Formats: sequence, C-alpha cells, structure tokens
Amino acid sequence: MTSIRIVNLEKKFGDLVALSDINLEIRPGEFFTLLGPSGCGKTTLLRTIAGFYKQDKGDVYLGDELVNSIPAYKRNTGMVFQNYAVFPHMTVYENVAYGLKVRRLPKKEIDERVKAALKNVHLTGYEDRTPDKLSGGQQQRVGLARAMAIEPRVLLFDEPLSNLDAKLRVEMREEIRSVQKKLGITAIYVTHDQEEALVISDRIAVVNFGKIQQVGEPWEIYKNPKNLFVATFVGKINTVDVALGELLADGLRQATFRGVTFLVPSAGTEGKSEATLAFRPEDIQETEDLGSTNKVVGQVESVSFLGSTARVTLKFEDTAIVFDRHCPKEEDIPAIGETLQVCIPPSACLLFDKQSGERLGAGGER
Ligand code: ATP
Repeated sequence: MTSIRIVNLEKKFGDLVALSDINLEIRPGEFFTLLGPSGCGKTTLLRTIAGFYKQDKGDVYLGDELVNSIPAYKRNTGMVFQNYAVFPHMTVYENVAYGLKVRRLPKKEIDERVKAALKNVHLTGYEDRTPDKLSGGQQQRVGLARAMAIEPRVLLFDEPLSNLDAKLRVEMREEIRSVQKKLGITAIYVTHDQEEALVISDRIAVVNFGKIQQVGEPWEIYKNPKNLFVATFVGKINTVDVALGELLADGLRQATFRGVTFLVPSAGTEGKSEATLAFRPEDIQETEDLGSTNKVVGQVESVSFLGSTARVTLKFEDTAIVFDRHCPKEEDIPAIGETLQVCIPPSACLLFDKQSGERLGAGGER
C-alpha cells in the first residue's frame, strides 16, 4: 500500500493560479476525496499527481519516491475518468488487457489479470462485448477493471459517476469503495457531490479557489467545519448575522438577531461584537423549550417531503429557517402558513467570523 505526500504544491495556467499551498498526506490504503465546487482545482490536483500536468512549485511523493520528474506512464497510477474513456472498437476483454499489453506482460499473466479484474467488477461473461452494447454503469466498470488490472500503486478517480443516473450512482459508489478496500489500493476520488464524498471517503479535503479549506473524516467535516465555506458547501446549514452581547457563565454568550436572544458558545468570540451564527436543520428542535431564549416563531413557507423526514422552511421576518421534522404519519407534515415555534439549542450553534468566515472556537484537524 502506497502513501501519497504533496508538499507546498502550486500550479498555474498562465496568470491563473489553479492551486496554491497544497499540503496533503494521504495514508496507505486510504480512500481520500477531493471535494469542491466546479473550477476549484480538484481535477488539476489529480492530474498533477498522475503526472499529466507539471506543477510550478512543490513536490509529489508516491510512497517514498519523489515523482516530480517521472512521466505519467511510469508513475504506475490507474485513472478512472468521468466519460469512461473505454476504447469503442475494442471488446471488454481487449479494453482491460490494453494496459497490460503495453507493458508487454506474458499472455498467460494478462489473461489471469483481466479475468480477475472483470470478476472484481462483476463483468465476468461480458468479455466479448463491445462498449456500445453496454450500459453506462457497465462501461464505467470496464474503466475501473482496466485501471485495476495494471495493479497500480494508486487509483485516481475523476468524477467517475457523474454520467450515471442517481440509482446507479449509489450502487456504483458502494462497489468502488468495496473493491478499493478489498484490494487495499490507496485511492484519490474527485467529486463535487458532497453526499457522495461523505458516504465513500475515509477522509475528505474540501477545496475552494485552489486551496485546501479543511481535511478531515466525513463526520468531522460535517459537524466541525473550519470555516463558513465548508459549513455551507457540505450539507444544508442555516446562517444568520448576530450581534454579540453579554458574556455569561458556563461558556455561553448572548447573541441577538431581530429581537430574538440566543445563548451561544462563547469560545473564540472574545473582543468581537458581531458574528455569523449557523445551525443545521436536523439540530433544530420543536419539543424542547429553553425558556425565553433560542426560540424562533415563524410561519411554514414550504415543505419538502423526503420520506422519513419533512424539510420545513419557516419564514421568520425576512429570514428563512430550514429544519427537519421526523414524519412517520401524513398528519405530521406541517401545513403551509401554520405557525410553529422552534428551538435552537446552544450546542447546535456554530459561530463564524463575519468578515473572514473562519470558525470561532473550532477544534483541530485529524
Ligand atoms: P470541475 O468540477 O468543473 O471539473 P475542477 O475543480 O476540477 O472543476 P479544474 O478543472 O482543476 O477544476 O480547474 C481549475 C481552474 O483551472 C479553473 O479555473 C479552470 O478554468 C482552470 N484550468 C483547468 N485546466 C486548464 C487548462 N488546461 N488551461 C487553462 N486553464 C485551466
């Protein structure tokens, strides 16, 4: 199993700085995801690791080997692309065998490796088909088998599921993860889909504007975001600007928003008079009454039925507050216009610097 180390990496396209200050340590056998919006630099980073792009500054190590001056075809990485990139004129067998033939392996070994790779992706029996007689999901399995057959040091995935329908995406991501874990190959996976990243990854690096915003396990990224970008990009979160008031006992501080007083954690708010308060929909409660604070009364503006829950948008003055109500029965779904009171417990309140967006009182990285 191979570790990947990236040190002070920078990549420019002309004047455009596509990546800067990139430092990452990816552990052997880890499923590591680069998550971020379109144009943030994820693909550029993946391609630089693969050797398709040359960085302007910094180092890439695969294991202990510095690979800066090693061309892509000698880095022994397996790449799986968004558009499958299977050869249309070749059969499934020939597609998977391609990289092995290029490496001039003996015929018997090629045969064994192709069969093993096809078995891993559940395509045994499809050897003689051409890609035009395969579904999108099957074509992507061919792409995966082809990448695995060369027994790469690392597997690199560039949005491999974007062209598949929603149900197949879910099936395939589970399959990719289980094959990767079974083979123990270190993997880097690029996606802009935060749900996919949370499900599939051991750890995630959230990227924006060519910089790493946070690295952590999925739970940590979601529950303990380092800045407002990560908080809003990964999952739904409510945000309101608050004025900070009196410092209280028990690590709490008063914060006010449109006449509503909140008790919020005081950590990191010293010397500040304002902040952005954020809270997740699932942390808002309807049953708990915290007395005179942390309470918002509003009218139901819209309801999205999500199966086990209903996502309710509550209108409070000119602000929309979104929360989740567990909905086992039809009558539990709130009516449009209904007046509801919700509580946002202090433990659900995350505070961010209003100017920089940095988290106030945040924990560290893993
Ligand atoms: P997407 O999810 O849309 O693929 P991404 O996060 O992978 O986006 P990149 O493709 O890495 O983003 O692009 C990062 C930035 O670099 C973008 O501003 C893009 O326009 C620019 N860029 C990427 N490739 C090139 C190139 N070959 N020449 C010039 N600029 C490029």
